[in-house]
This record gives sequence, C-alpha cells and structure tokens, in this order.
Amino acid sequence: MAKSGRARFIAGNWKMHGSFAANGPLLAALKAAPVDAGCEMAVFAPFPYLAQVQSELAMSSVTWGAQTLSEHAFGAYTGEVSGAMLREFGCRYVLVGHSERRQLYGETNDGVARKFAAAQAAGLVPVLCVGETLQQRERGETKIVVGRQLNAVLHSSGPAAMRQAVVAYEPVWAIGTGRNATPEQAQEVHGLIRGMVAGEDGAVGAQLKILYGGSVKPGNARELLSQPDVDGALVGGASLVAADFLAIYEAGCQAARAA
Ligand code: PEP
Repeated sequence: MAKSGRARFIAGNWKMHGSFAANGPLLAALKAAPVDAGCEMAVFAPFPYLAQVQSELAMSSVTWGAQTLSEHAFGAYTGEVSGAMLREFGCRYVLVGHSERRQLYGETNDGVARKFAAAQAAGLVPVLCVGETLQQRERGETKIVVGRQLNAVLHSSGPAAMRQAVVAYEPVWAIGTGRNATPEQAQEVHGLIRGMVAGEDGAVGAQLKILYGGSVKPGNARELLSQPDVDGALVGGASLVAADFLAIYEAGCQAARAA
C-alpha cells in the first residue's frame, strides 16, 4: 500500500485508438500480468470497445472506464452516452474534462462540473482532468488555471464528493508531446491540488488520489511516481503498447512497495 494509505493507480487512456484485432492481445497481456494489491490497473477505452473490454477483463483485477459521458441522465441527446449506460458495460470510472475535450470540443469548467456530478449520480468514479497550457505556465498562471478547474467541481459538488473521485494533473504541454513535467513540477502542482482539497476537508484531501499524466513512459515513470503527492499515472500513447504500459505499472507497484 502506498504512503498515507493511498493505493497507486496506473490508468491507460486509449483515446481514439484500437480495433477488435489490436485490443485482444493488449487486454490479454494486461490481465496476465502479476497484480499488486497496492497498485490498481485500469484502461479507458473508446465506447464501441467497452463490451470487448468487459468480456476480456471481467474475471481479472484490471478495472476500466470510458473517456467521457453526457451530463444528462437520458433523453433526446443524439450521439451522447449516459453514465447509466456506461455502468451497464461494467465501467467503474470515467474521465471528465480531459484537455482534448476542453480544447477540441469546447468543454467548460461548468460543463465538466456537470459531467462530474452526472458520473457520480450514475455510480461511476469520475477522474477529473486538470492542467494548464504552455502559455498559461509561461505567464505564471498554473495555480490560477488549475485552481479554477478544481474549484468548479469543489464548489458545485462539494468537497465530500472528492471521496469518490480521482484527480489527474495533466499539463497540456506534456500530453502527447514527449515532454513530461519534471518530477518537481508535477509534485508542486499535485501538492497544490491536495492542499486546495484539504483546505475544504482535511481527511478528504489526505485520501485523494492524484495522478500525473503527460508523456509518461517506462523511462520516467519511476521518478515521477516516487513524488510524495503523485499517486499514479494517466498514460496515453504508452498505454497502447503492452510492454510499455506494464513497465509503467511495475514502476507504480515498486513505488507502492517503497512507500
Ligand atoms: C493522455 O492522453 O491523458 C496522456 C497523458 O497522453 P500521453 O501519455 O500520450 O502524453
């Protein structure tokens, strides 16, 4: 078990990648990997593959989720998918507010907060993604931007809601660029996030799982995961290659054992 009793969490975000043929061997490799009770493994698959993921992983300890959901429970919202539908495919988690959703699909802090609430209302654990752009970091606005993203949820759902949630700090400049945040940069923002939540409720802040995302690879995972407030990783590109994702998972297990 990790320091402060927080189990580690290594999650793969497949984004819009995959096919029946490619997913099969990837899922088979993940479910065959040795599992550490102090480190959870999860995958976030595109909607059409959730049935495949469910049937492949059902008897394993690997958990799964979707990459977004509707803020509505049901109704005339063509193309949308509700939290209750995701639950029918065994999803335990759902990403909300990934930077690609914010940047490419205009998701706002308020809209993300509504999705966060919809996820919890459906019995899903939302993984709230926050992070600043390069310009915002260079202007010294990281704290303000991440604070606004987090506060939108904290103020609408309340701090207690963070008991059943995960936060992922993903600096936009590090996603898919091959340029990861340094362990010190990650720790600084993770500490800030934990401090903000702890400022509302100390116990909730102490148990909150905060993942780092942005060009996590086998070569940098161990150092990032050894930071005191980095409880896991949200992995994009490297989660599509079984050997790489499993090496990152192993780094998470080692960090859990060392804590
Ligand atoms: C992501 O998509 O959440 C992500 C962190 O991507 P990558 O690891 O490829 O930077």
